[in-house]
Amino acid sequence: MSTRKSEVLIIGAGLSGVSAARRLQGAGVDVLLLDKGRSVGGRMSTRRIGNGAADHGAQFFTATTPEFQRVVDGWEAEGLAFFWDIGWSTGSFTGNESEGHTRYAAKGGMNRLMKHLAADIPTETNVRIVAVRQTEKGWEAEAEGGGLYQSAALILTPPPPQALALLQAGNVHLTAMDADILGRIHYSSALTGIFRIEGTVTIPAPGAVHRPAEPLPWVADNQQKGVSPDETVVTINSNSDYAQRYWDAPEVEILETMKAALARYLSPGSRVVESQIQRWRYAFPRHTHSQRTLRTSGTRPLFFAGDAFHGPLIEGAWLSGEAAATGLLSDADFITARV
Ligand SMILES: Cc1cc2nc3c(=O)[nH]c(=O)nc-3n(C[C@H](O)[C@H](O)[C@H](O)COP(=O)(O)OP(=O)(O)OC[C@H]3O[C@@H](n4cnc5c(N)ncnc54)[C@H](O)[C@@H]3O)c2cc1C
Repeated sequence: MSTRKSEVLIIGAGLSGVSAARRLQGAGVDVLLLDKGRSVGGRMSTRRIGNGAADHGAQFFTATTPEFQRVVDGWEAEGLAFFWDIGWSTGSFTGNESEGHTRYAAKGGMNRLMKHLAADIPTETNVRIVAVRQTEKGWEAEAEGGGLYQSAALILTPPPPQALALLQAGNVHLTAMDADILGRIHYSSALTGIFRIEGTVTIPAPGAVHRPAEPLPWVADNQQKGVSPDETVVTINSNSDYAQRYWDAPEVEILETMKAALARYLSPGSRVVESQIQRWRYAFPRHTHSQRTLRTSGTRPLFFAGDAFHGPLIEGAWLSGEAAATGLLSDADFITARV
């Protein structure tokens, strides 16, 4: 079985993993990013359907801190992101209701942004890690199928319930305090439907309707958003109550309820010709840790990162990845292991 070595192994190539990797690589550290998915991006993902595409996880991002605003300004300047809107239509077609937060979207879809950000980082996708264990010199991660990855330090970015299972499988024991902090983090789920439409939709500009009180609060037109220039593709995201209720329901039943919600936005003569469902078990952290990263005590260098660390959302994931990388660069055990 093959063994690949790097100074730092980052499990999870979502935004927090990519942000940690970029900062470490910028400091001259040899990093390797691993993800079980077919592509980088995690919950920032864009899926193809017919000749179209849809953002089917995260839809937009906001910047509430100067640090992240600078990052977003850079993405805008590079043509990776654009100002999408300040508020959303109430669905009344009478115009947008602004509530003050600037929303940015990724040009051409979230996955395009993620691929760009990860382009220069050594990455392996389609690698599902099943256990991580401590070694004399650092860490070893075992992939499904037996491949091994060794490193001096490890950054875990899957949602903590998933990351803890990897430690447990490798018999890594955490202090009671760390186990308690990580064990408190839980996620709510979401269901997403994407619908390819023959014809047009009446979703008002700039291509999204948000009705927070409804079980399917989010309806977006990926064509207006620029993600799907050649075909009309709509994304519908559920709230967590809906996800809980329909989690085990057959796909056809979920699609029927979503299509009923979509019906009011179909132009006369238009119809759904293809649809897909995505079940996000770990969509949004319900309880977040107060710090942007967690360095476990009494272990070889191990940092947790992701949107569950201080949060929120995309901004929180980015800042958490950076915090883990910054923490690692000044970690005495890591510095010693590198020389
Ligand atoms: C439906 C939906 C809508 C959303 N809308 C918005 C929005 O509009 N605005 C916003 O700001 N945020 C939104 N979010 C939240 C946002 O997507 C997340 O906060 C952010 O993408 C989290 O990034 P992350 O790196 O922390 O985690 P993730 O993106 O989840 O990355 C973790 C990665 O770890 C990988 N992984 C897990 N286990 C393993 C393993 N065993 N081996 C290898 N790899 C593994 C996963 O494949 C994944 O790629 C939304 C999320 C969902 C699900």
